[in-house]
Amino acid sequence: MGGICLFNNLQLTKIMSETKRGLNFIEQIIEEHNEKGKYGGRVYTRFPPEPNGYLHIGHAKSICLNFGIAQQYGGQTNLRFDDTNPVAEDTEYVDAIREDVEWLGFKWNEERYASNYFQNLYDLAVQLIKKGKAYVDDSTAEEIAEMKGTPTKPGIESPYRNRTVEENLDLLERMKNGEFPDGARVLRAKIDMANPNMHLRDPLMYRIKNVEHHRTGDAWHIYPMYDYAHGISDSIEGITHSLCTLEFEVHRPLYDWFLRELDLYRPQQIEFARLNLSYTIMSKRRLKKLVEEGYVNGWDDPRMPTISALRRRGYTPASIRLFAEKVGIARRENVIDVGLLEFCARQDLNKVAPRVMAVLNPLKVTITNYPEGQTEEVEAINNPEDESAGSRKIPFSREIYIERTDFLENAPRKYYRLSVGKTVRLKNAYIIECDEVIKDENGEIIELKCHYFENSRSGSDTSGVKVKGTIHWVSIPHAVEAEVRLYDRLFTDESPNGHKDKDFLEFLNPNSLEVVTGYVEPHLKTVKVGDNLQFMRIGYFAVDKDTTDEKLVFNRTVTLRDNWKKKK
Ligand code: ATP
Ligand code: MG
Repeated sequence: MGGICLFNNLQLTKIMSETKRGLNFIEQIIEEHNEKGKYGGRVYTRFPPEPNGYLHIGHAKSICLNFGIAQQYGGQTNLRFDDTNPVAEDTEYVDAIREDVEWLGFKWNEERYASNYFQNLYDLAVQLIKKGKAYVDDSTAEEIAEMKGTPTKPGIESPYRNRTVEENLDLLERMKNGEFPDGARVLRAKIDMANPNMHLRDPLMYRIKNVEHHRTGDAWHIYPMYDYAHGISDSIEGITHSLCTLEFEVHRPLYDWFLRELDLYRPQQIEFARLNLSYTIMSKRRLKKLVEEGYVNGWDDPRMPTISALRRRGYTPASIRLFAEKVGIARRENVIDVGLLEFCARQDLNKVAPRVMAVLNPLKVTITNYPEGQTEEVEAINNPEDESAGSRKIPFSREIYIERTDFLENAPRKYYRLSVGKTVRLKNAYIIECDEVIKDENGEIIELKCHYFENSRSGSDTSGVKVKGTIHWVSIPHAVEAEVRLYDRLFTDESPNGHKDKDFLEFLNPNSLEVVTGYVEPHLKTVKVGDNLQFMRIGYFAVDKDTTDEKLVFNRTVTLRDNWKKKK
């Protein structure tokens, strides 16, 4: 962000110095306002996405903040689509944004569009021209940039700056009617070409774009700039606290200038630090590139940081709200460890996800003393964290799969899983002891021969056999095959964006997706898309939308423990 920032920050500084304990700085400002009766004790916020892409986890933080703070003070929040740049915007994004905000658990008071205010904005621009505070500039973009000066060098006034009011009004109307090509003219606010804050050096208010808008069609040939449209939209809606990210701090004097000059109701803009996550890209432009160039399979590819991807991956709304709360609100930019997001997923899923058994890397076990063709059902508790989740029956038989990693041929003494001569409990079922290892001609282990202790069944164990380990399993004749998608971080570098000489694409993790065939309990045939499960001892998984009647597809949401650090 260019520009020396010398504008009046006294008001905020004063408020912030009278710190109240335990409140974040936005709550402090609001309480101060409420005490003084500013805004009559109202709190009215807005979440203002530009519908030019899907929302990501950074937006989720902004959503939780805007809706959360209004709720906290008995206020309300608008969902406002900031649709002033028709080129990149689309109704597909509008729909996705609505769905994401709702899914996160928030209800907006009104749904608004900046484009609803195009006429108001135009009328106000006319008013500014009449006041001698705006003018049409015929200079090219390059000339305007040139005349702008630098933070240390004052700018030069445009030769068009002193046009008559009549000429300005006439030109603006003709710009609006589509008489000029794109870029031929702009409308600028007449402020101060020497202001130390570059944003006050006659900023643009309108540019010509002869393109259709997804809502207003071909009604307009000029579109307002963000800085002009945003404050006025806030003002029209009666917003009290306009929360935005820190880079807009230097725009605040301009936000205030338009409203003051037009004698309009003035909300308070307050800036907070944007969320940055390690191993994650958060700019919509770059995310779009990943989608459009096929590095991922769409905006909701579970490796993406978008809300739709997190949902598909198995994140719950509660886990994302918890994350936003833990990250908190700060005035200083920092990078949050993506491990915190995963931690929040585990926190919530531990409470809500039913436990099931699934084997992802199968090794066949034959229980030689269990009668051939016999099946019995064992009882399993669905969720030890939630009694109301009840229990289920799981079929047990002579041939089962266990996890290949639960067997070790030359096991040390303290190895508590399976090895020849060692015993282990099969979760919810019997104790088995391994007798023999069967290998193929390449020496690869293909089967274990074991025997079971008949009176060792869980819940009614009278065998007297002591075991230290318990492993999960599935009965081979009853198991259901499933495609299981194991995700890893999409980038191998902590800040894929933070290298001057390297493009973020160079840090794409070639192993961010591994697809395996797993075997799951038969009752999983009844799951629905989006269901969350814990595959015991492995991780949390969610049923993917690619699931059909013929084929189950699971996404790994997160492993049970954070094993990323160990792996490094
Ligand atoms: P991007 O740069 O990724 O395109 P943006 O800021 O242009 O994001 P908008 O749609 O304009 O995206 O943002 C809507 C709201 O979300 C804004 O108020 C913006 O400040 C907020 N927001 C965007 N990114 C983040 C982030 N990483 N952390 C917190 N808030 C964010
Ligand atoms: Mg933006």
